[in-house]
Amino acid sequence: MRKKVCLIHTGGTIGMARTEYGYAPKKGFLQSILSGIYELDSEEIPAFDLIEYDPLLDSSNISVKEWVKIAQDIKGKYDHYDGFVILHGTDTMAYTASALSFMLEGLSKPVILTGSQIPLCEIRNDARDNLITSLMMAGNYHVPEVCLFFGNELYRGNRATKVSSDELIAFDSPNYPSLAEAGVRITIKERVIRKAGLELKLSEFVPQQIAVLKIFPGIQFEIFENILTSNLKGIVFEAFGAGNIPENQGALNRTLEKAEENGTVIVVCTQCLRGSAMIGEYETSLSFAKAGAVSGYDMTVEAAVTKLYYLLSMNYDLDMVKKLMGTNLRGELSVFKTTQGNQ
Ligand code: ASP
Repeated sequence: MRKKVCLIHTGGTIGMARTEYGYAPKKGFLQSILSGIYELDSEEIPAFDLIEYDPLLDSSNISVKEWVKIAQDIKGKYDHYDGFVILHGTDTMAYTASALSFMLEGLSKPVILTGSQIPLCEIRNDARDNLITSLMMAGNYHVPEVCLFFGNELYRGNRATKVSSDELIAFDSPNYPSLAEAGVRITIKERVIRKAGLELKLSEFVPQQIAVLKIFPGIQFEIFENILTSNLKGIVFEAFGAGNIPENQGALNRTLEKAEENGTVIVVCTQCLRGSAMIGEYETSLSFAKAGAVSGYDMTVEAAVTKLYYLLSMNYDLDMVKKLMGTNLRGELSVFKTTQGNQ
């Protein structure tokens, strides 16, 4: 029997139209273009229902509210479809994919986010292939995860990151292999795919006051003292290399001490594209260790931010949030032992 996929259109370049101000989302436009693509009627492609969000958004405008709506829609329609494809702008697609991976626990069907760098309405585009292959994978392949399909690769959603603003290979999964490749054939890499869950559980996010701070040489930490109030529930540091931070400033320690006193969860990721942040590997991460910070290991910043949303929304106590932050929950991180025995 022909499989059935739920196609949710949230906005993004893939379905945008040309306007006098540049590309912009337009109501009903995607449906009109899809009806002109005769290949979509082929038996090889699953049947699909298109659900168009109103308003359609450039993904820069997507936030917690939209993440929750997508997750609720998937949960509500879960039993009626073999898989889900979410059309989404590329700018924040990796955040949404990570967020959905935490909100949707125990998936047994694929949820694939895709989009394009060139809209479907242009003659030369990457949209058609991304859409058709995502539909085929969502309907016909057993990949029970939140994934991101782009440029011929199916990535684990919470491992993907946008690496190019203008190339057609716009995403990468720097610390984890792709789950499938769409070359001449579609090759599924079963060894690296998570096992299916028994029952889908939805945990909705609640907006949280969190921050991301990228470290750079010469950073003056006193500037940030004012944002470290007790309202700040979590902060992700994009530190140097393996999780290092300039240590020769009193202001840094004051800032971190304040965060600790306020019960702010401090997570340390690396600003390198590949590799891990592990507190304790170098002396220059000592300030983090003293402040009770958690290593983000090889999580992307997108995964770390959305994981903070998730854990804080679950109302765990601080120790539990810290413990789970460094624990692999949805395949988002690889935990390695350090020589120091930290974390
Ligand atoms: N600004 C667009 C968006 O993220 C870019 C894209 O879709 O590629 O919605």
